[in-house]
Amino acid sequence: MRTAILYSQRLREYDLGHVLTGERYERFMDLFREKLGRHPDFQVIEPGYATDDDLKLVHSEEYITRIETCQSRDPHDTPLSHGVVRAARLLAGAGKLAGDLVQSGTINKAIVIGGGVQHAGRDHEKGFGIFSDVGICAENLMQNHGLERIMVLDADAHAGDGIYAIFAGDPRVLFISIHQDPRTLYPGPDYTNPIGLAKGLGYSVNVPVPPGTSDSAYQYVLDSIFAPLAQEFSPQVLLMVGGSDTHFSDQITHMGLTLKGIYAIGKRVGQAAEELCEGKLIAFEGSGYDPRAILFPRGWLSSICGLTGMEMDVEEPYSIPSGHRRDSAVAEVKETVKGVKDRLSPYWRCFAS
Ligand SMILES: [Zn+2]
Repeated sequence: MRTAILYSQRLREYDLGHVLTGERYERFMDLFREKLGRHPDFQVIEPGYATDDDLKLVHSEEYITRIETCQSRDPHDTPLSHGVVRAARLLAGAGKLAGDLVQSGTINKAIVIGGGVQHAGRDHEKGFGIFSDVGICAENLMQNHGLERIMVLDADAHAGDGIYAIFAGDPRVLFISIHQDPRTLYPGPDYTNPIGLAKGLGYSVNVPVPPGTSDSAYQYVLDSIFAPLAQEFSPQVLLMVGGSDTHFSDQITHMGLTLKGIYAIGKRVGQAAEELCEGKLIAFEGSGYDPRAILFPRGWLSSICGLTGMEMDVEEPYSIPSGHRRDSAVAEVKETVKGVKDRLSPYWRCFAS
């Protein structure tokens, strides 16, 4: 089956005037076209703008109305203009379309280029995000396609506090976030790695890892947390927030992954989708902050190659600065994983022993 690349040139309006530039999406497509543009397994599809009804899958009418006035409550990180709001509707439309496509039977993987809104909630814009493409994708799959088990792996360097808040009480969505410890990175220490609320208790799994965490430690988390939970939960579709801000060269985070590590995460998630849910997978590739646009296109492509089981044909453009990756991070990650499993053992048989 084919993989849909959801992309529109109109995304260039998603330019926030800081590290999130509007030209980043086209820079990725330049590399994609060079490496995979003629590959028969990929099909580039242009999404449309989300309608108000699409946005209301997650957001309130009052929120949508306020956003349309361009009055931001997070003006430093998330300044609003009519162009930005239009582009946010485009990402939300792509999130909805991704679900429609993987349920259509002709495409089983969809990649939302520029997507992965993590910090926006049902009624607040935050941290570069306005409308929750991930939330709209999952709600569309549940409300319009009848799905009951959706697994979201958030492998972005930042904790997905907005995605958490949207689904904290919903046991139909298992949310796993592996992220740089929020005491050392946005969204900050107020995010205390919660495990869900009410009926959703146990369905949020946060794994905070220390700065400098490297490829092997990420694989340890996937082996210890992601794989057993995926087996037990048995998702009908997998969603992944990918991107490349976990790379050691990223300008605003402090993680230690290489492109091979980003590829390896995608590969594990792609294999899990093949084993558990007929390969149905939706990935959001949007993070990575690099003013010269050298790293993030390679990061997104590495992730996509992993997710689709292709050989990786991307060179690492930078060498790892000495002392960047800390050996002690592996021991810290093992300790964190033990704590996460203990805390969640009342909810999951795989963690009970
Ligand atoms: Zn991020």
